[in-house]
Amino acid sequence: MIYLDHNATTPPLPEVMDAVSECLRSGWGNPSSKHGHGQRAKAALVAARADVAKLLGAQPVELVFTSGATEANHHALHGALARNGAPARVLLSAIEHSGFIKAALRLRDAGVEVVLLPVDADGVLKMAPLRAALEQPAALLSVMAANNETGVLQPVADIAALASAHGVPFHVDATQMAGKLALDFAGWGADLMSMSAHKFGGPKGCGALVVRKGLGWPPLLAGQQERGRRGGTENMPGIAGLAAAARDAVAGMKADALRVGAMRDTLEAALLECVPGLRVFGAGAPRLPNTLYVAIAGLSADRVLDRLEREGIFASSGAACSSGGPEPSHVLRAMGVPADEALGAVRLSLGRDTDADAVGRVVHVLRTLVPQAAAAT
Ligand code: PMP
Repeated sequence: MIYLDHNATTPPLPEVMDAVSECLRSGWGNPSSKHGHGQRAKAALVAARADVAKLLGAQPVELVFTSGATEANHHALHGALARNGAPARVLLSAIEHSGFIKAALRLRDAGVEVVLLPVDADGVLKMAPLRAALEQPAALLSVMAANNETGVLQPVADIAALASAHGVPFHVDATQMAGKLALDFAGWGADLMSMSAHKFGGPKGCGALVVRKGLGWPPLLAGQQERGRRGGTENMPGIAGLAAAARDAVAGMKADALRVGAMRDTLEAALLECVPGLRVFGAGAPRLPNTLYVAIAGLSADRVLDRLEREGIFASSGAACSSGGPEPSHVLRAMGVPADEALGAVRLSLGRDTDADAVGRVVHVLRTLVPQAAAAT
């Protein structure tokens, strides 16, 4: 089996499984309890916060543990609008995660103006429309660090500087970049940042929102935990697993990025050479080292994915399912890709377990698919 869907989720690392089960077995106290069990859990929470902060380039005090990036994004959005005197206007890139865009668009019914900022043909945010949008007050600007479909990276520090010059709080969804490339919350100058454990070997249902020190940010879930910023007894097994994945990433991320990046480049070059009509999305922009997003002219994503799966290779399409059939990816549509071509988009997202053998098998399957498709028509 060849798993090429690491942007959807990653297999948990052995040390993550150990950390989670150890926490369930002997670290099950409530960190808010004053007795020994509670205090041991609290010490584990403090240590985990430091480990995760190190991965993010943030201070431990800036982390709010959440149930993942979806909650962190909602916290950034709803917190922005709940601040005193916040304008009822938010700016999001048109290629944010679909769940996040949905959350923002729902607010239109409540009278919030939602501006979706355009990207260029490679999926990079256009600066002129961003500057124009920042001329009017806004409660939040949100742009992801790396796109989950294309892997394309945004110039986060430049965007943060523009937002700051206009006094607009800037949130970056770094979910796809965490554990793959170095994050630098402080250096970027962002105000808020989302991340999630399961994208780099951690457990599902655990992540964090980073809130810049000194920035008042109303909670999404009221309660005493996380210094009043997120109510609910902490998900200690999840947090222990997240911290283990973060320690692993801090130690090995640089070498992994080089190795995985070389593998992705080899795959991309081989496919371009052997598969007629192959298009690579986002190829003109800097990308995550593990992501390759392609379409083969005349072949639907379903067709390609079925064939790959029959060969034991697991990947994803960029299309979303709806009752009327597959919907082309909103990311590709924002990049100006025609709907019929977007419906052919297949995402191959590599991981540290991907080897040269896997690359060879994918190339072999895809190169044989094209003559078969031609013969069938
Ligand atoms: N943002 C991005 C960019 C993502 O890729 C994902 C996961 N697909 C999320 C947010 C949501 O993360 P979670 O699964 O932790 O809610």
